[in-house]
Amino acid sequence: MRVGRSLASVRGDNQGHAFEHLDANVDLILRQLESDQIAALEKFGEHLGGGVMFIQISLSKMWLFSMYEILRETCDFPSCLGAGKSVYCIRKDCLRCRVRNLRDELNPVRTALAKLQPEKAWKASPSKRNYHPSLLLDESSGSFAWKAHSDRRGSCATVSRLEFSNKVLEVLGPE
Ligand SMILES: [Zn+2]
Repeated sequence: MRVGRSLASVRGDNQGHAFEHLDANVDLILRQLESDQIAALEKFGEHLGGGVMFIQISLSKMWLFSMYEILRETCDFPSCLGAGKSVYCIRKDCLRCRVRNLRDELNPVRTALAKLQPEKAWKASPSKRNYHPSLLLDESSGSFAWKAHSDRRGSCATVSRLEFSNKVLEVLGPE
């Protein structure tokens, strides 16, 4: 929620959409499920399947979508150079520019999951339609991750739910 408050300050938003309280709650639920996966792998040599796993996958996907939207919306406010919304100062101490880096890191997987095509795919190409990213379980963290090709990067990108959450807190958390 402190991160949510920082993002709201970039947008000049006094109410801050409850400062991402709901996303923070889902993050806590997912952290528990992720540590349960680690415990299951250690105790039984295999991960939890069935309903627990599907809830974890579903919530992980929804949480990443929700994070993408708040990061994107915060980037869309013209602030750091007082110019258009796609203008950035690229200074390391600029919060809005750090938000943009996180948005860009998440976008290949977000595009594949939401639009069923690689990031920056040429839309007219039928071969780029109905593209599906790979789902992975990171057995070192218990977190699900998605791996997707990005035409913008010319390579694949992998986003782990837990790693991304930790990075958001580290990169955007109060100093
Ligand atoms: Zn900036």
